[in-house]
Amino acid sequence: MSKTLSDVLAAVERLWPVSGASEWDAPGLVTGDPASGVESIHLAVDAVAETVAEAVEKGCDLLLTHHPLVLRPIHSVAEDRYKGALLARLIRANCALITAHTNADVVTDGVSDLIATRLGLEDATPIQPQADPRVGIGRVGTLREPITLGALARQLGTILPPTASGIRVAGAYNQLVRTVSLCGGAGDSLLGEPAVVQSDVYITSDLRHHPASEAREQALLSGTGPALIDVSHWASEWLWLETAAQQLRTELDEVEITVSDLRTDPWDFVIVQ
Ligand SMILES: [Zn+2]
Repeated sequence: MSKTLSDVLAAVERLWPVSGASEWDAPGLVTGDPASGVESIHLAVDAVAETVAEAVEKGCDLLLTHHPLVLRPIHSVAEDRYKGALLARLIRANCALITAHTNADVVTDGVSDLIATRLGLEDATPIQPQADPRVGIGRVGTLREPITLGALARQLGTILPPTASGIRVAGAYNQLVRTVSLCGGAGDSLLGEPAVVQSDVYITSDLRHHPASEAREQALLSGTGPALIDVSHWASEWLWLETAAQQLRTELDEVEITVSDLRTDPWDFVIVQ
């Protein structure tokens, strides 16, 4: 039986309930008529010119992205601004847009949980559990055997898609780590969480100078605090797309679901000095 956008929204709510989203977030339907038919869905981390073009040129009925295109208020959809141009292109092509953002971060098999699974963390639990203790932001768990910080960073390098900025590490290459905390996407707000402070290493993205430096200095003084691994924000979230696609295929038989391989990490090259 053919599916409508409304059916897709119901599946999205079953997989990634909006109740799990952070207060500041705005996941859900961005553009599209819930009554319209959906035969094909394209998944991407970001709604940017390249991924919108890809979805439209493939003739997809829906682009589902992790990041909201419209989170902060916009005051027009004029097409001399990129958000207006992208929304207009989607609307003209009858391609709807849905985002599943922090509501997809917190769940089992969500963005952070998947990284924990791929690293082989045992007994992984949320760093900030919600009412359901299996749901929440970030994950902390233990590796079966301690490994060096360098080996863990190299393992991440094989799990995540390659990006220009690679993987940055604060800590000694040969120090042993076993308790691993992590948060896909930007996770510097969790640096002070007890589960992070007590872990051997914290993996996240977008670590800026001051939060990273302060966490390392405090660890040096108190003798407790994690080494830091900073990975590409896009890469840490792209990993989730294939699982999300599989889950949607189970929910929505007969709908063709594809994942974008386009690298929407904004950085193109680095100079190693
Ligand atoms: Zn993100």
